Amino acid sequence: PDWLGAGLPHIWLPYTQMRTVSPPLPTVATEGCRIRLADGRELVDGIASWWTACHGYNHPHIRQAAMAQLARMPHVMFGGLVHEPALRLARRLSDLLPGDLERVFFTDSGSVAVEVAIKMAVQYWLNRGVRGRSRLVAFRGGYHGDTLATMAVCDPEEGMHSLFAGVLPEHFIADLPRDDASRDALERLMAREAGQVAAILVEPLVQGAGGMLFHDAASLRFLRDLADRHGVLLILDEVFTGFGRTGSLFACEQAGIVPDIITLSKALSGGTVPLAATVARRHVFAAFLSDDPLHALMHGPTFMANPLACACANASLDLFAGEPRLEQVAAIGAQMRAELEPCRHLPGVRDVRVMGAIGVVELERIGDMNRLKARLVEQGVWVRPFRTIVYLTPSFTITPGELAKLTGAIRTVLADPP
Ligand code: PMP
Repeated sequence: PDWLGAGLPHIWLPYTQMRTVSPPLPTVATEGCRIRLADGRELVDGIASWWTACHGYNHPHIRQAAMAQLARMPHVMFGGLVHEPALRLARRLSDLLPGDLERVFFTDSGSVAVEVAIKMAVQYWLNRGVRGRSRLVAFRGGYHGDTLATMAVCDPEEGMHSLFAGVLPEHFIADLPRDDASRDALERLMAREAGQVAAILVEPLVQGAGGMLFHDAASLRFLRDLADRHGVLLILDEVFTGFGRTGSLFACEQAGIVPDIITLSKALSGGTVPLAATVARRHVFAAFLSDDPLHALMHGPTFMANPLACACANASLDLFAGEPRLEQVAAIGAQMRAELEPCRHLPGVRDVRVMGAIGVVELERIGDMNRLKARLVEQGVWVRPFRTIVYLTPSFTITPGELAKLTGAIRTVLADPP
């Protein structure tokens, strides 16, 4: 349409984004694994809109569920009223999650899901009459969102924490327990400070926005054991990893551990409308059961458990149950492994790594990423280089041909650096 003609978005930008690194591309439609631009070009999407659109865009089953819910009741307040889409979704999530993770608190973004988890952990101790346990142990390379409390537990150098130092609460930032030295450091930290710690907070298996940094099941088992020995809570932030991305429905399954609190968002509603959930184990929830209103969790977002979002999430879970999503994730991983591996020998490439449906080519240094992105668009793909990494997190429904186009474009562009 005319109103998206060349140039116009640049006039609008100040109204829509706080910062822009390069001019965004006017976009008019999404279908399957394709993005259609206003100028008629079509791009194969390698990112699934920040890993949300796990079934591809505009999946008919989710669309039908959304249209039906839109006609019936797109929204109603969740204070004092409940509805079937939310109750059904909460029940299904607690059935799918391991152990007794069964109490679901709905919000509308990953950041707020983590914010609620932090508040829950801190208040868990207060409600039990234990004072002074208000700090978290979080990890270098970690990313948990953009609200003030979540920024305080992001990586202090690479994240936005340093800018807000002194403004935000101070937490303990440690190295992930990958080796003896980092495990010893965590043991010493906890031996010294456990009395101040409400919870350990970590992204399981992969630190996403910190640069797709992989760790492993052993480090998660170590953290579960450390938390148990010191009697603190373990929070897993599965906003990125939840719903199949790492090869299992939830990353924690690969370690065989049950966190005390887990956060979910992104792919929860199948990449449609915003929805998030913070899910707590029975013993955590028990600390909030009291006749004293001050014991309630003090958080009540306006769009909590929005019925439209819950209906989309229920439809998304139908697809996880009825279609071979985890097999598709394994096949995507195998194809990416084969087709990205040759990048290892290209100039300036430091590492190639694949986990589940996450494929990463890491470069030696940050080059002209805007130029790189523009050349990828010229190749007909939507792949957005980020710091030193070029990564793929496609929809699980991507075809082998579409995926080959993505990996081929990355190989072509990296073989001929600007
Ligand atoms: N936690 C993790 C692990 C994330 O990857 C993200 C988003 N990249 C968030 C929290 C924040 O989610 P949102 O952007 O929906 O607030």
